[in-house]
Amino acid sequence: MVALQMLTEHPICDNCLGRQFALLGHGIGNKGRGKAIKLLLTLERHLHSYDLGEGALDLLKNVATNGSSEMTGNVLRLFNEPAKAEWRCFLCEGAFERIDSTIVNAVRELENYEFATFLVGVELPLDIAEREDEFKARFHVTHGESMKSQFSRNIGKQLCQTTKKEVEYLKPDVVVLVNPFLNRVRLQINPIYVAGRYKKLVRGISQSRWICGKCNGKGCEVCNWTGKTYQDSVEELIGLPLLKMVQGEEIAFHGAGREDVDARMLGSGRPFVLEIKQPKKRSIELRRLEHIINKQADGKIEVLGLYVADKEVVRQFKRAESTEKTYNAVIEFDREVSDEELRNIEEILSEATIRQQTPIRVLHRRSNLTREKYIYAANTKRLSQNRAEIKIRCQGGLYIKELITGDDGRTNPSVASILEVKATPLQLDVMNVGGS
Ligand SMILES: [Zn+2]
Ligand SMILES: [Zn+2]
Repeated sequence: MVALQMLTEHPICDNCLGRQFALLGHGIGNKGRGKAIKLLLTLERHLHSYDLGEGALDLLKNVATNGSSEMTGNVLRLFNEPAKAEWRCFLCEGAFERIDSTIVNAVRELENYEFATFLVGVELPLDIAEREDEFKARFHVTHGESMKSQFSRNIGKQLCQTTKKEVEYLKPDVVVLVNPFLNRVRLQINPIYVAGRYKKLVRGISQSRWICGKCNGKGCEVCNWTGKTYQDSVEELIGLPLLKMVQGEEIAFHGAGREDVDARMLGSGRPFVLEIKQPKKRSIELRRLEHIINKQADGKIEVLGLYVADKEVVRQFKRAESTEKTYNAVIEFDREVSDEELRNIEEILSEATIRQQTPIRVLHRRSNLTREKYIYAANTKRLSQNRAEIKIRCQGGLYIKELITGDDGRTNPSVASILEVKATPLQLDVMNVGGS
């Protein structure tokens, strides 16, 4: 039997011997399986020793020495043979026996975090992994399990029992990374995501935190020693209360597109997902959070419809960049414009494809491309002789300010090019994002 051959060459613990035959037998752990194999070998050799004599006794000695089995040792003593010498498993070097102290470590680390589900990841030293591979090749092990999977199964089972939490493979709250050989435990705390919609009720608020470009956040005269170009950001107004609530370490804000700093975001609001990294708490009272955010934002922004989301929602945002949007802009012309001219704008821009080269003002952070964006509808309303309001429902990604000014011919057609005037956007509001 191949197990005898293994034990003849190397000292192997019950766990490691059983693992080589993991797919054989059922309802028995690797440790029990290894023990059973050693027992079987002992009984068999013991029997043979009566009629085969010395040869069988040698093999029995091997099982006793390399198997570290108590029973084999006892049988051997019947023949007045010495007990086993100093012993260490060739494959795991005793790591399976030390696993309990690693578990204690993991439990202590986990006590700092609230979580419902976890997954165990095992890191093995390279030489250990290589030795196991060579061993398997040498003995043609085909019904075995990998050492990694045995460790993660054993540790997972014990952590389940101790912490009363569940193992989850797809979206665990925590990944427990264990190196059983160094008795080292690292926790990877997965972020939490809260999604909803926000309205921006005043101008002059950036969507994400805008670090002062002059001082790089250190504080200077330009930024009035705040380190920020704009004092308020949607990201911070929404994110900081949540960060505090769950005792997290970092915020990442994902909006379904963004409006300019000087544009409001009205209507039913813009969808967003807020990601909090390394949260100590995971249970969130959404109603209370909504209340706190809106109260602290003091009329600058407002959130609605908060829900607990996941990474998938962020991905959907990226995919839905070109989702339909509705804007309202106030335009000032450098001369009087007639009603007919305003109707002309509506007619040309409605159901039109706009060719837009990346605006000069964003060239420093976007590559220089020409995009085609569709306008579903454009409606105008006169405000005075040289001012009008324009409502535009279009594909996301169309730069509205440039649609008005023409951006030196980079956007075509534009309000300015249609009337051959200088047109300036005075105010811009986003009225709706998406179809709802
Ligand atoms: Zn072992
Ligand atoms: Zn500064």
